[in-house]
Amino acid sequence: MADIAFIGLGNMGAPMAENLIKAGHRLSVYDLNPQAVERLSGAGATPAASATDAVGSAQVVISMLPAGPHVRDCYLGKGNVMAATPAGALLMDCSTIDAATARAVATAAGERGLMMLDAPVSGGVNGAINGTLTFMVGGSGEALEQGRPYFEIMGKNIFHAGEAGAGQVAKMCNNMLLGILMTGTSEALNLGVAQGLDPAVLSDIMKQSSGGNWALNVYNPYPGVMDTAPASKGYQGGFGVDLMTKDLGLAMQAAVATRTATPLGSLARSLYQAHSLQGSGGLDFSSIIRFLQGEDDQ
Ligand code: NAD
Repeated sequence: MADIAFIGLGNMGAPMAENLIKAGHRLSVYDLNPQAVERLSGAGATPAASATDAVGSAQVVISMLPAGPHVRDCYLGKGNVMAATPAGALLMDCSTIDAATARAVATAAGERGLMMLDAPVSGGVNGAINGTLTFMVGGSGEALEQGRPYFEIMGKNIFHAGEAGAGQVAKMCNNMLLGILMTGTSEALNLGVAQGLDPAVLSDIMKQSSGGNWALNVYNPYPGVMDTAPASKGYQGGFGVDLMTKDLGLAMQAAVATRTATPLGSLARSLYQAHSLQGSGGLDFSSIIRFLQGEDDQ
């Protein structure tokens, strides 16, 4: 059993850390939010007073933070994780961030003789709870094999996307498509309901037809259609509008840099940004349906 430092215990990090504890690993955990640390220590983890404290005797360091600046700050800035990590430890950043930051942090790790993987995930909070996440891994094959036993506890699909940063590129493409699909699914449901259809009936029909997609099939944005979806829980928890806006922003930066046409991604980004600016940044991203209904401020 390994000593694992886990940094970032939010909607995703907390259940991922819990699965590692249930598998018998010893976890030292840190989050800026003391309540998040307290919850995990109730689940059997050792609370740490700082990121440096958490990694002191770690064989594996896993981070699940909001965005690139948080990751850079944690490993290379105030968090000072890179300098405090023992030699031979494996670093695995599972946050969704820009590929350039992922490469910069991995290069700094390499300069210290540490192996690092960017390993963003797909599958949402339920995937994190159930240990069924998909990992998109960038880094060396050797590092991936070292990390595989931990990925296999937290997820069920592990893909090697390529060298450092490649996992983030794969994730960015996936999430741009997800933002487009959630917006399109919401439009279609609204159009059906506006003509008198029951959203559950319409969803069943589209799921078995050519409109079926992940947003419709497992994350229905219409309240009451799917008990487990954030839409049926007041759009609480799940994957935040601000996080989706961030991911669409990363995709647009990459599209400009590579001169790739992404008109639908660009439109989805504008819609999510406007939705966030209406005060909905903390809601789950399926709440874009409310924005399209003109109900953001109600
Ligand atoms: P979250 O906002 O719920 O959690 C982030 C946590 O990081 C918070 O508890 C925050 O206090 C902590 N944190 C921030 N800066 C820190 C620092 N410097 N040191 C320690 N802790 C710090 O976010 P989340 O939904 O758990 O998402 C985390 C990452 O996973 C994001 O990059 C997101 O894009 C990605 N992601 C989320 C989902 C989802 O469904 N929520 C799915 C796939 C990927």
